[in-house]
Amino acid sequence: MTLIVQKYGGTSVANIERINAVADRVSRMRSAGNDMVVVVSAMSGETDRLLRLATEVHPNPPPRELDVLIATGEQETAALLSMALQQRGHDARSYMGHQVHILTDNVHGKARIRMIDDARVRKDLGRGRVVVVAGFQGVDEEGNITTLGRGGSDTTAVAMAAALKADECQIYTDVDGVYTADPRIVPDARRLDRITVEEMLELASLGAKVLQTRSVQFAGRYKVPLRVLSSFDEGPGTLITFEEHAMEDILISGIAYARDEAKLTVTDVPDRPGVAWTLFAEIGAANIDVDMIVQNVGADGLTDMTFTVHRADYDKALKILKKVAQALSAGDVIGDDKIVKISVVGVGMRSHAGIAATAFRALSDEGINIQMISTSEIKISVVVEEKYLELGVRALHSAFGLAGPPAAG
Ligand code: ASP
Ligand code: MG
Repeated sequence: MTLIVQKYGGTSVANIERINAVADRVSRMRSAGNDMVVVVSAMSGETDRLLRLATEVHPNPPPRELDVLIATGEQETAALLSMALQQRGHDARSYMGHQVHILTDNVHGKARIRMIDDARVRKDLGRGRVVVVAGFQGVDEEGNITTLGRGGSDTTAVAMAAALKADECQIYTDVDGVYTADPRIVPDARRLDRITVEEMLELASLGAKVLQTRSVQFAGRYKVPLRVLSSFDEGPGTLITFEEHAMEDILISGIAYARDEAKLTVTDVPDRPGVAWTLFAEIGAANIDVDMIVQNVGADGLTDMTFTVHRADYDKALKILKKVAQALSAGDVIGDDKIVKISVVGVGMRSHAGIAATAFRALSDEGINIQMISTSEIKISVVVEEKYLELGVRALHSAFGLAGPPAAG
């Protein structure tokens, strides 16, 4: 028996017609002899609607109650899908997170899964039932409902697949796989047949919003075979793999970008032990995520420190920096919130030289100035002016020959 965990995102269950279409697909696969566990998101827009309702009664909704509220979106779709499956002659059961015991920590709004008690699901599968699980939610040790963060149903699905040692975890969404670049920006971007989990992690965290980053980390840790597919057309989607050897001849897998970035510079920071710590301790204490950090070579005992944050944190970070700069007797604080980050990602980088040069040349040929550079083993990221986002992504996509028909998988 093949055990498949499927997850359907908000657009795939957006209305009754689509829920029926999902039920048809699940029904087909069940009838073909597969054991099926289906994780659902709320109807698209529903979680946002619930969040808005909350702020209408409380400017700062208490996190525990907010989780009770926003978990209802998934409860709705789980029950509806289960009914639709029964209507098709299947024995189906829907469950909330606490019922299949998705045990989490108690951090409301971004809880982490600690354990799943898979016994109940296995028992149902053993009786030939299709199990439908409400995504995005869990329960803490005290029985409070928790949620896993926006897009968290992906994580529910991967965690379920890991706990059940499923043969495959299939994430159905509104795109038919992972692309070499955002097709809205690069019309000749192509679907990848496969991508490594490491590359997917870079792409997910760099703003290619196909999968929730945490779900990919989970898949990597527990070696869950993960596939991204479209619920609107048939096709193999993109398989996220653990083997690299199959990909040796592929140098670069994709170009990602992150739009909502901002950068901050503190000039003339005294170049002595402890300054970076002082600076970033304050930023960290304010819960601001820092991405790239660049410190210049010091001259005359002074150095410049530049880093990037989410644009939403820009004003807060600027305020803190001004205070810290003064305390450190540093110079000015300069900021720019009209920047974007573009990244070239590929495991092939490990074994090939010259990737950086190719990337920098492509940008230079378009007259795009690079403001910051950072690299890891499998990616090169640059910060450029916001207005160059599209041009930069396209230039890099073509410089690495990513367009055209997919290579044989
Ligand atoms: N419904 C939740 C959200 O909109 C979780 C999910 O869709 O995965 O973020
Ligand atoms: Mg979603």
